[in-house]
Amino acid sequence: MAPRVAIIGAGFGGLCMAIQLERAGLSSYTVFEKAGDLGGTWRDNSYPGAGCDIPSHLYSYSFEKYASWTRRYPEQPEILGYLEQCADKYDVRRKIRFNTEVLSATYADASWQIRTAGGTETFDVVVISVGQLNRPRMPDIPGMDDFEGTCFHSARWNHEHDLTGRRVAVIGNGSSAAQFIPRIAERVEHLDVFQRTPNWVIPKPDAAFGPLTRLAFHYVPGLQRAYREWIYRYAEGTLYPALAQGWSTGLLKKRAMDHLEAQVPDPGLREKLTPGYPPGCKRVVIDSSFYPALTRSNVDVVTDRIVRVAAKGVETAEGLREADTIIYATGFRSTEFLSPIEVQGRDGVSLTRQWHSGAEAYLGISVPNFPNLFLLYGPNTNLGHNSIVFMIECQVNHVLSCLPYIRKHGTIEVRPEAMAAWTRQLEAAMGRMVWGNGCQSWYKTAEGRVTNNWPGPTTLYRRLTARPPLPAYSLG
Ligand code: NAP
Repeated sequence: MAPRVAIIGAGFGGLCMAIQLERAGLSSYTVFEKAGDLGGTWRDNSYPGAGCDIPSHLYSYSFEKYASWTRRYPEQPEILGYLEQCADKYDVRRKIRFNTEVLSATYADASWQIRTAGGTETFDVVVISVGQLNRPRMPDIPGMDDFEGTCFHSARWNHEHDLTGRRVAVIGNGSSAAQFIPRIAERVEHLDVFQRTPNWVIPKPDAAFGPLTRLAFHYVPGLQRAYREWIYRYAEGTLYPALAQGWSTGLLKKRAMDHLEAQVPDPGLREKLTPGYPPGCKRVVIDSSFYPALTRSNVDVVTDRIVRVAAKGVETAEGLREADTIIYATGFRSTEFLSPIEVQGRDGVSLTRQWHSGAEAYLGISVPNFPNLFLLYGPNTNLGHNSIVFMIECQVNHVLSCLPYIRKHGTIEVRPEAMAAWTRQLEAAMGRMVWGNGCQSWYKTAEGRVTNNWPGPTTLYRRLTARPPLPAYSLG
């Protein structure tokens, strides 16, 4: 009998899993989605200017290439539209339970019990694909409740609130802020950008694809594949070595410094915007309109320490900066992974307890004590240089390659020794990478353990995940 598969989340990962199961002729799956629509991060992040800084010809499924991207770096509506088209083409919507949040997943009597507000259902396999950046992190600044104006998080944009002519405070200056600040700066009366730590910023070589180029992508055999391959190889061959502190580290820094110099004429502002840690330690911002927005006369980059949020604005060590709107671009609870879903494995083992010193999974996919449980975009599978969709496809292929063993033996579970060896290898590889020291970032826990990023080339990850390395797993 085909295994019953529960997929949690209908973003890039969950949809990929569902589509690949359909393509493999397996329809005994259900997708649980807590929201009313699909798309994950591309549904949630609808702020002005939201988009992907990895070109979409690569940031898309390899089995569903799309010739009609309107530009190299399309914005959120186009990416969400692509996912919707994929769901429709492979007819997976019928299998998605919208507005159904999974509260817990419990392994009992050799199967998984999935509990939602509507009841409990039994499955043989669980694939959790809830992303690393799905839960907004609100900062812990005293007085936030005292603010009398309007406030919201960048990933929960308040589209009803017109920013025209307002005094706006943006807290945070990561990739999200860098995308929406240029869009709102021209509308607001005044914008204060509260920067705690500057980011390295490199240009985004965006360009529209005209009708002829799109036709060429449609009809010239091999063109799209070659373009995709070229983007992939560039990222792997040039950006990865910079993060691994290899030959291109200096080039990345020079690119960012040249960009800063070209776009910010004021030496005082340039100094404020110059990071004091190596490029790549935090996610590099890829954007060409962020710096010009910061140089506008109605925009101030505020580096004074925030003391509290007051009724009328943001109070810093230097005094009150008045605002009628605060936008928290303060990122996500990235190291909490599957939270708040309660996951219990064999013999009542709690995943939260097992992960008390940081999330870890073999290949980023499997966890000892949790048979037939698979994670997509799990611990140590995030990238700072290439497409996450590539990683997701590797993980989905891995799950597919495990299913025949589950059919034959009932269960597949990673051995604790294999997990321990994997963790040692990761730690050794992590020592080479730029994220380790010199900065705090969403890649690591407060204690400094890098739980989010993959430290190797993605080609290696593809090789490692291609099929289940059987000695690492126990069957049945
Ligand atoms: P983020 O990179 O985590 O940035 C959060 C910002 O908020 C940082 O500047 C941080 O400062 C600041 N912050 C947090 N708490 C604060 C506090 N209490 N007081 C003052 N400042 C505070 O979040 P994000 O910009 O939403 O981006 C998250 C990730 O999403 C990105 O790194 C990227 O991987 C992804 N993303 C990608 C794209 C894309 O184009 N592909 C676009 C948007 C987002 P510190 O640096 O000092 O901590």
